Amino acid sequence: MPTVAEIFETMVYGPAPESRDPARAWLDGHGRELQLFINGTWVAPQSGQYLETRSPADNQPLARVAAAGPADVDAAVAAARAAFPAWSALPGHARARYLYAIARQVQKQARLLAVLESLDNGKSIRETRDIDIPLVARHFYYHAGWAQLMASELAGYVSLGVVGQIIPWNFPLLMLAWKIAPALAMGNTVVLKPAKFTPLTALAFAEIVQAAGLPPGVVNILTGDAGQVGDTLVRHPDVDKIAFTGSTDVGRSLRRATAGSGKRLSLELGGKSPFIVFDDADLDSVVEGVVDAIWFNQGQVCCAGSRLLVQETIAEPLYAKLRERMEKLRVGDSLDKAIDIGAIVGPVQLETIRGLVQQGVDEGATLWQPSWACPTEGCYFPPSLFTNVAPAATIAQVEIFGPVLVAMTFRTPSEAVALANNTRYGLAASVWSDNLNLALDIARRVKAGTVWVNSTNLFDAAAGFGGYRESGFGREGGREGLYEYVRPAWDERVGSMQYAVGSDDAVGSRQYAVGSDDAVGSRQYAVGSDESDGRRQAAVGSEDGVGSSTQNSKLKTQNSKLKTQPAFPPIDRTPKLYIGGKQARPDSGYSRPVYGPEGHLLGEVGEGNRKDIRNAVEAAHKAAGWADSTGHSRAQILYYIAENLAARAAEFAARLVASTGQAPEQAGAEVEASIDRLFTYAAWADKYDGQVHHTPIRNVTIAMPEAIGVIGIACPHEHPLLGCVALVAPAIAMGNTVVVIPSEPHPLSATDLYQVFDTSDLPAGVVNIVTGARELLTRVLAEHDDVDALWYFGTAAGSTLVEEASAGNMKRTWVNYGHPRAWHDPVQGAGPEFLREATQVKNIWVPYGE
Ligand code: NAP
Repeated sequence: MPTVAEIFETMVYGPAPESRDPARAWLDGHGRELQLFINGTWVAPQSGQYLETRSPADNQPLARVAAAGPADVDAAVAAARAAFPAWSALPGHARARYLYAIARQVQKQARLLAVLESLDNGKSIRETRDIDIPLVARHFYYHAGWAQLMASELAGYVSLGVVGQIIPWNFPLLMLAWKIAPALAMGNTVVLKPAKFTPLTALAFAEIVQAAGLPPGVVNILTGDAGQVGDTLVRHPDVDKIAFTGSTDVGRSLRRATAGSGKRLSLELGGKSPFIVFDDADLDSVVEGVVDAIWFNQGQVCCAGSRLLVQETIAEPLYAKLRERMEKLRVGDSLDKAIDIGAIVGPVQLETIRGLVQQGVDEGATLWQPSWACPTEGCYFPPSLFTNVAPAATIAQVEIFGPVLVAMTFRTPSEAVALANNTRYGLAASVWSDNLNLALDIARRVKAGTVWVNSTNLFDAAAGFGGYRESGFGREGGREGLYEYVRPAWDERVGSMQYAVGSDDAVGSRQYAVGSDDAVGSRQYAVGSDESDGRRQAAVGSEDGVGSSTQNSKLKTQNSKLKTQPAFPPIDRTPKLYIGGKQARPDSGYSRPVYGPEGHLLGEVGEGNRKDIRNAVEAAHKAAGWADSTGHSRAQILYYIAENLAARAAEFAARLVASTGQAPEQAGAEVEASIDRLFTYAAWADKYDGQVHHTPIRNVTIAMPEAIGVIGIACPHEHPLLGCVALVAPAIAMGNTVVVIPSEPHPLSATDLYQVFDTSDLPAGVVNIVTGARELLTRVLAEHDDVDALWYFGTAAGSTLVEEASAGNMKRTWVNYGHPRAWHDPVQGAGPEFLREATQVKNIWVPYGE
């Protein structure tokens, strides 16, 4: 034992262990055997089977934990279903009190939770005590507030129902809080499955739920194996939503497993986040930032800054400083308060890390590790730095999920952005520079859901967290996260069962001419009625205004003319496809006939195929600069489109009459509603703002809605003009570019828009239109890896196809499961839901102060 004087001389750390007594007492209190938490009580698994959980710090067993099976999943879902009506009907204030009580209980049990988490996961007690557990309490406090405010702030939205939640092992209790707090606040009941490696704090949380007096069945916790519990939960017919955090591969399988079921899905997946350092950054701060970015939680962090991108001129000095700092990092027992890096969660994960590190060496990168050795008992891996890494190397692309940093260099800001975005993921990024203008510009250009400026790994309940691209979709935290747990009140579809029925198979026949929501349309827009008149004139504001009695009679005359023989043979007008701002001949060389309601030939349109879709996607990508244009400019162009459509309103209405057989009044109302939609989204283009979140550290957290990229849009067959405009307008208003498949039986209204677009200053490639067989073309879009989102309004079978085939690149999808939507209705057919679907929120954290 060294003397105090010697310690002053050498400055070596001694052990500073946190007592494991609270955890030991808790485990002993349960006889070291933990049951399932169903309907407010502890229940033995029906299979009678248990799994062992061990401490990765010393490989010693901690407890046996129940292994739930399908019958237990049924029981838990039934309990959650039974609890749902009363829980969702509680006033928000009552739910707020429960959430507040949970937050208080978490704080009271903080020491037990911190120690238990460290033991079960191997993470350092400093982190569980100072980061994980305080953030858990914060999430429940924050969402108690949203429960209180739900009725006023989310008016028009209601709870979803029973939510199945599946979480990983890296932040066991924190991930539980991210899932359960918003779900309960919004009036849902939950069945949660913790990861097999780390079940203990979820079970301790069950006791907190009991202590807070939550009604039985509101929270149910099922431990066990992924195949038994996770899979059954995901496929359970009485679950309304799955919220998942975990690896991208499992996320992809969940996307496929839930496809077409109508279950809502949010996926928080993996990452390979860039940590970008410019030559004017403060290198000492950068080094501490890197420590937090990649050695926090042993690098087992979804948003770990695992790719260090350094401006070339400072690369060597930074590497030297890093090596010096790494030499001083301490790896050891998770309960030692003086360690920096704890144990890897388990032998399997340790082997994965070892394998990838070896692959990095084999592929020619240079590995550096500190001179000291890790403890030999338990699962430890030293902090590691790879330099000389090719951007395409496995270690530069694959999530290692361990304490391994991969460094690359760049010369210019644009090169930094290109390298940063050279990944299939898009979870987070850090940007380090003393030039805030540069840092914010890079933050804007990097494709990631969270960007930290001169900081890293900052989290708070008030800021949404979630990914772009293959890092998943949906947000947790912030106002943006609440929408994952509610649905519009008008949308009566609940759960998966009802989705099997609806289909628009009738589409294509003339039945669709009078769509099921026509009643709504005529109610709202009834041409000639007193209310609609004022509105009509205001919207159209020109003598072309459709719907006036003169106009109506004009339409009728035109319509009857259309039905009688013209004096001369009509000039053949076969619209081609509309790609990159030009009419393009379809690759097939074929066209398809378009028939009117009586079966007579109305004209022909191009027969688009796979190659045409590929060309359209390419054109849409070329027009990506549209996202950088100002909201004001986009609004101007939308107004201009509206103006040009209004100028040709009679012609468009006549086309609708001829195509669908609908009454001229209805056709006029459809044109008018389309003009109204264009005005609506022109209005929103410069008003759909973000927020500045109140995160409790000295910083500005800017939540910015951004364009998603290229959106594929398969239009409904009904309302051939309005169905198209109502979808295209919000998408382009928010800065996306689109590839549109118009109504298959009635494509001519969409192809007539070519000339409107051409005369409205719409840049080439922002809107691309490919006519043809909707389902075939939709599949091509769904399978296309360069399409970022896909909206589909068609059949139930088509919706299933879209969700399944989109799993390839995890594109965001918005489908209708075969259910018609009232396109004329301003609540169903327009509004914030469309804007949310057209954007993704990026949270940029900018600290202030010296
Ligand atoms: P994982 O293997 O995907 O497992 C996550 C959870 O899913 C576990 O509870 C697991 O159960 C369960 N599961 C596995 N296969 C399943 C299936 N087929 N059906 C239903 N459930 C299934 O991920 P992990 O290794 O635990 O966690 C690491 C990953 O999570 C990393 O990729 C990391 O980036 C990601 N992550 C993301 C975020 C985020 O917010 N984006 C946050 C944290 C972690 P078992 O434990 O029983 O296998």
